[in-house]
Amino acid sequence: MKTSIAIIGAGIAGITLARNLSAHADVTIFEKSRGLGGRMANRRREGFSFDHGAQYFTARSPAFKAAAEQAVAQGHASIWPKAVHALKADGLVTDTRPTEPRYIGLPGMSGFANGLAEGLDIRKEATVARLAASRDDWVLTDNEDKDLGRFDLVISTAPAPQTIRLMPEAFSAHAALKAVEMSGCFTLMIGLDAPLAPGFEAARIEDHVLSWIAVEASKPGRSEKTALTIHSRNDWAEANLERDRGEVQAEMLESLKRLLGRDFSTAAWLDLHRWRYANVEKPAGQPFLFDPALGLGACGDWCLGNRVEAAAESATALSEMLIARLQGA
Ligand SMILES: Cc1cc2nc3c(=O)[nH]c(=O)nc-3n(C[C@H](O)[C@H](O)[C@H](O)COP(=O)(O)OP(=O)(O)OC[C@H]3O[C@@H](n4cnc5c(N)ncnc54)[C@H](O)[C@@H]3O)c2cc1C
Repeated sequence: MKTSIAIIGAGIAGITLARNLSAHADVTIFEKSRGLGGRMANRRREGFSFDHGAQYFTARSPAFKAAAEQAVAQGHASIWPKAVHALKADGLVTDTRPTEPRYIGLPGMSGFANGLAEGLDIRKEATVARLAASRDDWVLTDNEDKDLGRFDLVISTAPAPQTIRLMPEAFSAHAALKAVEMSGCFTLMIGLDAPLAPGFEAARIEDHVLSWIAVEASKPGRSEKTALTIHSRNDWAEANLERDRGEVQAEMLESLKRLLGRDFSTAAWLDLHRWRYANVEKPAGQPFLFDPALGLGACGDWCLGNRVEAAAESATALSEMLIARLQGA
């Protein structure tokens, strides 16, 4: 009988891991959300489309570059933006330097994950709340104590602060999990009735509140309705995580007004998303965590760095080790 493996999370790490392992084991992914992609996220409201998590990804390793290019060929990804300018209090500084390709999912950022996930066994809206040891395997249960099944191995790809809550005290990599530091981010989404030509597709913002702005309609395959996605700085988000959402939104809008000279507070659509664990400040510094005695492991961007590719690399490294182990079994 094949080894059964439960993967917690259908972000890029969980999906990469499942793809690599599915020829060698019975793999099931549990994802707490309705959609796939995790922090490679897309939200559609009132005809507006926002990529409210990762903005684009780069692919430096040959394997991930091949995956990105294959997704482009299959219509699951495209290239954007042409340039990332800098928006400062005294104006826009254009960036004309040649750059490596930057990829986005199609028709939204999660499209890249959806394309990679084709054919995988994924249980959506299934939150893994507890792992209980039962002789030779693990019994997974959800928030309502519903049995999600028994598995030989369990791998969590949830952000480290969430993975640590799932792992038993006996998990040998507890100290490494605890050492990981992640930071939050607020994302402001603005939908407008009329077109806007701010002179850029995307810009890094030099400001004490905001860090990034993207013009969604400048992306291939998106809604043509004018939509802006704006990220706060991570340090500002950390200092304001528990603050009233209305106040957070008002301060972000105030900063934007200073930078663009325009008040968006009466825009047709306004929404705010809080990412509790958005970016990796201090990674684990090892490609993955695995306890062979317990049959429990973890991987994700937080193992190696702060990028989509780091999540894919972490999952690939763990899958290579697991395949060698399964073949030796
Ligand atoms: C605002 C923001 C901007 C970013 N910008 C960029 C960028 O421009 N470029 C870049 O390369 N990277 C960027 N990133 C980082 C990038 O999104 C991540 O590095 C990458 O998506 C992480 O993938 P992952 O699979 O490791 O984790 P995730 O995408 O977080 O996946 C984990 C999954 O686990 C699920 N989950 C968690 N707990 C449970 C549970 N108990 N049961 C079931 N499911 C569970 C979650 O719902 C999620 O789907 C950004 C991130 C954010 C938030």
